[in-house]
Amino acid sequence: MELTAGVAFRDKLEQASALLSHKVPNGDPATILELALDLLIERETKRRSGAGKPRKRRETKPGSRHVPVEVQRAVRERDGDQCTFSDAEGRRCSAKRFLTIEHVDPFAKGGPTTVDNCCLLCRPHNAHRARQVFGDEHIQNKISEARANRRQSAPPAPTPNHDVSEKVLGALVRMGFKRADARRAVEQARVREVEPLLEPMLRATLAILTP
Ligand SMILES: [Zn+2]
Repeated sequence: MELTAGVAFRDKLEQASALLSHKVPNGDPATILELALDLLIERETKRRSGAGKPRKRRETKPGSRHVPVEVQRAVRERDGDQCTFSDAEGRRCSAKRFLTIEHVDPFAKGGPTTVDNCCLLCRPHNAHRARQVFGDEHIQNKISEARANRRQSAPPAPTPNHDVSEKVLGALVRMGFKRADARRAVEQARVREVEPLLEPMLRATLAILTP
C-alpha cells in the first residue's frame, strides 16, 4: 500500500514516532500508523456506543462543600493549572503549585459547588480572598451586633476564647491549611496575646501561615 502524504502529515508522523520511541524503537511508519488507527477506532467506537449519553455525574448533595472530581478536573483544565488571581492591572498570578479549588461566590454564603463558581487559587491568594470575605462578614456581624444592642441595652456576652480559636481553626482548615499547621498558628497567636476576637485572630494566624 502506498500513500502520498503532505508536510503536515509527515510532521505528525515524526512527532508520534518520537513519542513512541520506546514502544516502536525502529520508528516503522506502518506500525505507528496501525497504533494510531487502533486508537482512532477505539475512540470512535466508544463515542458511537455512548453517543448523546452524557456520563452520569455523581450528584453532590446540595449544600455539600465537597468538590466532585469532575468539577475539580474541569476547573483545573479551564484555569490551566494556574492561580486565577489577577491584580488591579490585570496581571495574573503565576503560581502553579499548592493550588486549591475555591468557591468564587463563597460557600459560606451559599455559593454553589459548580465549575462556574469554582476557581484555582494559590495559598496566599486564597488567604487574601478569605481576609476579604471574613472582613465583610466581620462588618455584617458588627451591624447585627449594633442592632441587637439597640434592642436590648445589655451588652452581648463576650465569646469565650476557646470558641474563637476553634472557629479560626475551622476557617483555616477550610481554606486549605493543614490542621496541624493551623493549630500551631492559633497557638502562636495566643502566645502573642492577639485580641481573642475572630478577626484579629484570623488576621494574625494568616500572617503566620502566609509570610
Ligand atoms: Zn496566586
